[in-house]
Amino acid sequence: MGMPLRRLVPLLALLLSLFSMAVASRAMVAEWTRLRDADQAALALADLKTALVAAEMASRERAPANALMGQGASAPEATRQWLAQARGRTDRALEALGAALHARAGQPRQALAQHHLEQALGQLRDGRAQVDAVASQPQGGADAQAIRQAVLAMAAVIPELGPATALMADELQRAAPAQAPPVQSARMAADLREFAGLLGSHLTAALAQQRPLTLEERLAFERTRGRMDQLRGQLALRLDDAGAGDPVRDAWRAVNVSYFSSGIELAQSVANRRGQAAARGLDPAGFAQVYVPRMEAIVALRDQLLARVSAAVALEAVDARWALAITGSVTAATLLLLGLMAATLKRRLLDPLGATVQVLHAMARNDHAVDLPVVRRRDEMSEVVDAVAALRQHARRQEEMALERSQLIAQLNESSNTDFLTGLPNRRCFVDAASKVLARAAAQARPVSLVLLDLDRFKSINDRHGHDAGDRALVAVAGALKTATRAGDLAARMGGEEFIVLLEGCGESQALQFAERLREQLSRLRIALADGGVLQLTASLGVAVQEAPDGPLDGLIRQADAAMYQAKSLGRDRAVLVPPGGGVGPEGA
Ligand code: GH3
Ligand code: MG
Ligand code: MG
Repeated sequence: MGMPLRRLVPLLALLLSLFSMAVASRAMVAEWTRLRDADQAALALADLKTALVAAEMASRERAPANALMGQGASAPEATRQWLAQARGRTDRALEALGAALHARAGQPRQALAQHHLEQALGQLRDGRAQVDAVASQPQGGADAQAIRQAVLAMAAVIPELGPATALMADELQRAAPAQAPPVQSARMAADLREFAGLLGSHLTAALAQQRPLTLEERLAFERTRGRMDQLRGQLALRLDDAGAGDPVRDAWRAVNVSYFSSGIELAQSVANRRGQAAARGLDPAGFAQVYVPRMEAIVALRDQLLARVSAAVALEAVDARWALAITGSVTAATLLLLGLMAATLKRRLLDPLGATVQVLHAMARNDHAVDLPVVRRRDEMSEVVDAVAALRQHARRQEEMALERSQLIAQLNESSNTDFLTGLPNRRCFVDAASKVLARAAAQARPVSLVLLDLDRFKSINDRHGHDAGDRALVAVAGALKTATRAGDLAARMGGEEFIVLLEGCGESQALQFAERLREQLSRLRIALADGGVLQLTASLGVAVQEAPDGPLDGLIRQADAAMYQAKSLGRDRAVLVPPGGGVGPEGA
């Protein structure tokens, strides 16, 4: 026998549970990692934006700084306020970046980024001091070199923010590798914005002093333009084939229209002119007012790209959360169903099956008292239990019938061997039993005697007193026979008013004595009659003896019968012994 189902089913359920938990935990770990990466990417994205905004603000600050340097000590209050506000924005943005870096203390490359941020702050202080120094000169008083130095000092802040930006971008790309292209594009857009600002800054000194560009300024201008063209080409490769309706494509088109066709043209025309700018009254502040708004499209492109990354990262987080929730609940449901299935199988099938088997075993031992399981639901198991109940009912009936039958057989046996009227064994029973006694006596070489008895003139008893009185007489004779015989003697009614007694181990004289005693007892019987009278009777007896029995029973009976008839013919009420040799002679009376 294999493993019993009541052990196999829970074991299989357990194995299946472990298996589904293993599969589920693998999936859940993967989703968990995805969710953690998405959350990390969202944080890194926020900090990348902080870094890019810090660079943008430091860059934007150059516009009012250049304007102020162009106007000198006579600059209007509006320009000073413009600069003060721009410096405030830069400071706040750098502070935010400092906090973001501080939160990463201990991470690789954080120290480098931190160091460069401090360099940037130092550079900013230095640049602002130079700007302030130039601005304190009367308009047109500052020399070109000082303006140029201040512009370059302010521009030198930006590269120092590069390591921080790279740190955040790398972190973001590690957490969301699929977002690498838009992240890189956003950084390029930020660089483009910086170069565009720088391009304008190269013109500051010339505009402030109302003169053409020096050779050095022209070279710097052309170098910056060259790098911008490079960046534009790279961005075009990435963004030109974006699908219609894509906000990134629209933002990129806006950059091309707003900056590359008109903004850059303005800068180029200022760079190309030789003193005409002054004639048109374009000082650094005026230039900035026209030029700076043209650059906004680049910032908008950067933000559009970052928004795309942000949306993708948020979607990834939502997706991972859903997957986690679905995997978790499907696993829980699977485990629950498995447990339920095992419990149901045990309760509704295995337990009642075990109990039913016990009942069947008990039935095999003819024990019908063992309780069948109670199955409340109608199902296959209840059908089995019902079938076993029916089988048991049937078996019970069969058993009762078998008992009745054997009782009946016993009764029949008895009635077929017993004489109805007197209760003595009948002729058939006597013949069976006597044959056995004869065989046993022959084996032991012991004598056997047979006494045959016939009531005298019984017909006339019937005639005179009625058949019932005759019957009563017969019962009385049987009673006398029972008292006269000992255990081992075989007495029977042969039929009518004829009785027989077989005496085992009894020789001639003893048999005669017995017959005589019986005859006498019968003659002394007084049978009360219904009418108050008393009936008397006599009997004639024939005795046959076999000293060493070897003949058949019939022979012995015939001899006793002949002796009995002799008793009749000798006048009745006497016993006659068959003489040895088979002849019959009178005995007794
Ligand atoms: P005998 O002395 O020659 O034997 O005379 P008998 O009248 O006894 O003659 P027989 O043996 O021929 O008659 C037997 C009678 O016994 C006949 C029958 O009416 C009566 N008898 C036989 N069986 C029964 C019985 O069961 N009940 C009664 N009441 N009478 C029986
Ligand atoms: Mg007779
Ligand atoms: Mg008779």
